[in-house]
Amino acid sequence: MTESEQAVALPGEPAFAAASAVFNLAAPVRPAAAVTVRTVEQVRAALRHAERLGQWVRVHTTGHASSSARPMDRSLLIRTEPAGPVEVDPVARTARIPAGTRWGEVVEAAAKFGLAAPHGSSPTVGVVGYLLRGGISFYGRRAGLAVNSVRVVELVTPDGEFRRVSASEDPELFWALRGGGGGLGIVTAIELGLFPAARVVTGAAFWPAAHGPELLSRWLRWSRGAPEAVTTVFRVMNLPKVPEIPSALTAGPVVCAAGVVLAPAEEDLTDAEGQAADLLGPLRAVADPVLDTWCTTTPPAVVRTHMDPTDPVPVLGDHLLLSDLGEEGAEAFLRVLGEGSGSPLVNAELRQLGGALAVPDPDGGALSHLDAAFAFTAGGLALDPAASAAVRAHCAKARAALAPWDTGRTAPTLVERLEQPQRHLSAAEVERVDAVRRRVDPAGRLRHDVPPGACALY
Ligand SMILES: Cc1cc2nc3c(=O)[nH]c(=O)nc-3n(C[C@H](O)[C@H](O)[C@H](O)COP(=O)(O)OP(=O)(O)OC[C@H]3O[C@@H](n4cnc5c(N)ncnc54)[C@H](O)[C@@H]3O)c2cc1C
Repeated sequence: MTESEQAVALPGEPAFAAASAVFNLAAPVRPAAAVTVRTVEQVRAALRHAERLGQWVRVHTTGHASSSARPMDRSLLIRTEPAGPVEVDPVARTARIPAGTRWGEVVEAAAKFGLAAPHGSSPTVGVVGYLLRGGISFYGRRAGLAVNSVRVVELVTPDGEFRRVSASEDPELFWALRGGGGGLGIVTAIELGLFPAARVVTGAAFWPAAHGPELLSRWLRWSRGAPEAVTTVFRVMNLPKVPEIPSALTAGPVVCAAGVVLAPAEEDLTDAEGQAADLLGPLRAVADPVLDTWCTTTPPAVVRTHMDPTDPVPVLGDHLLLSDLGEEGAEAFLRVLGEGSGSPLVNAELRQLGGALAVPDPDGGALSHLDAAFAFTAGGLALDPAASAAVRAHCAKARAALAPWDTGRTAPTLVERLEQPQRHLSAAEVERVDAVRRRVDPAGRLRHDVPPGACALY
């Protein structure tokens, strides 16, 4: 082993546990061997090691998406950890982000310069997996799919070559990397465009689920004409009685309206507060919330708005991209998930799409927009076999109830199950990405890293 190589660890060894740990405890991964890497040379050494032993290659950062990953037997799993800090260029409004970085760090680094990144709802999600799969942000209706902000991808392709890929350097690989479904290399850094964000109005308001029908009806009506500066989510939650969660939220099922209104400059704040009031006024008029955290604050607060767990949890879930629900769809959603439904799901939500998320980016990659009104996700805790069975059964029930509004497409970041194929690319787009895979991975080493539906080669 040379100095630049990291020791490849086998099951039972502490380094194996560290390299193969995943966020979703219900979906552990079992590769033949695992290694944590930080540098290009370490990635190359890992690829050589896998080739010597005839192993497939897999890559992850946090294991947030482990429930939709293919089995890892006969594979070397590479975990990327940051080689250094996030570097922000405030003039160019870009950040250079080493692979392995979680969003929380990017948010803090950008905020020092009055900038924000198109991050998602959780500070612990990995930048690379989120971006390569599209990335739906609370800034999405203003900023578009997060992947459209990627300027440069640095990676080692399975043939061992280090490439710095952009619109001008290997544009076809750059196109395929952005939403093409993966299996193209081990990313070591990403350069990302940032945007001005002086202030935000953000938060979550909760009501007893009995108010669900009126609140959902008003939220849906508002969402149809909502300004692009506002991105929101409507949730039904059955939260566990644990000390971290306020008791007001665990007395029974609650519904929640959460979101963000962006004020790029201080002078936009009055407008932003007015837009928040247009959303929240009619909702607060239905009943007083049992908890209401909406306030004017600074962008780092946005990663806490959705109150995602930051420690690993065992979760099972499902996802659909839905067309506009209308009153009938709202009724179907609440019948199966709202008060009196007996839903065991901790969370079921409708993320508002549209705005810039719906607009194809002429300079974008394989995925640059989402053609749907709402992203539905639902999930529950898989604490034991009985709980897992109940969650699975209820997800299936929700899927059946929402079938009339199912677009049949998927948002790649939100697919939760290996059984659900990715449905964001046309057959011609899959073929185009496959042509790039044949070029950079002629031996198909990364073939199992591609989710079902995103590849026709293997
Ligand atoms: C609590 C929570 C909140 C979430 N919120 C949002 C949200 O708001 N919006 C949204 O769109 N999604 C959200 N997601 C989904 C999340 O974006 C996806 O699970 C995403 O794939 C996670 O990326 P990761 O790198 O952390 O995950 P990982 O499981 O580590 O990686 C997922 C895949 O990304 C690829 N990958 C990771 N690292 C590399 C690398 N260095 N080189 C090449 N490929 C790599 C691999 O194909 C890997 O299989 C959320 C998930 C959770 C659990």
